[in-house]
Amino acid sequence: MKHKFYWLHPSLEVRETSKCGYGTHAIADIKKGDILLVLSGYVMSLSDEGKLPGSLSDNGIQVTDNLSLCVSKKSELGGINFFNHSCNPNAGIKGQIFLVAMRKIKKGEEVTFDYAMTLSESKVIGPYKLECLCGKKNCRRVITDSDWRDPALQEKYAGYFQYYIQEKIDKQRKPKSR
Ligand SMILES: [Zn+2]
Repeated sequence: MKHKFYWLHPSLEVRETSKCGYGTHAIADIKKGDILLVLSGYVMSLSDEGKLPGSLSDNGIQVTDNLSLCVSKKSELGGINFFNHSCNPNAGIKGQIFLVAMRKIKKGEEVTFDYAMTLSESKVIGPYKLECLCGKKNCRRVITDSDWRDPALQEKYAGYFQYYIQEKIDKQRKPKSR
């Protein structure tokens, strides 16, 4: 039996996309709320992740200010690594390790999430910047690790941020008392 770092919804398939390398697509309709991916990986500090060779240095999903779930070699890539960012995504994060459908996803659609849901500024590595090619009307063009601070995104993705980011948002929102 071959064990993997992740579980992928049976109605999803990884395929090459025209502009964004590999992407994950629905091969049948998927219901809102369905778990699309259970992800895991080696728990690494962001600085250790940054020392991995080549594109592996940016493969992880940040789960705290300093830690990421990553793979350590190319042969382990899979799961979350093949979901692209979109500024108008159909999937979001629940907890730390679930990717879920934020709405009904139709057969043939690419499944995407917004990196703003998982990234936040780190003291140990430099600022994150990604040029976005999603082509959506509301495209932010440049994706950064401080996008989660945008009140419009906080509203749009309420309940779909990584747990540690949702906590930061909730703390900011709590009215100051006493
Ligand atoms: Zn975009």
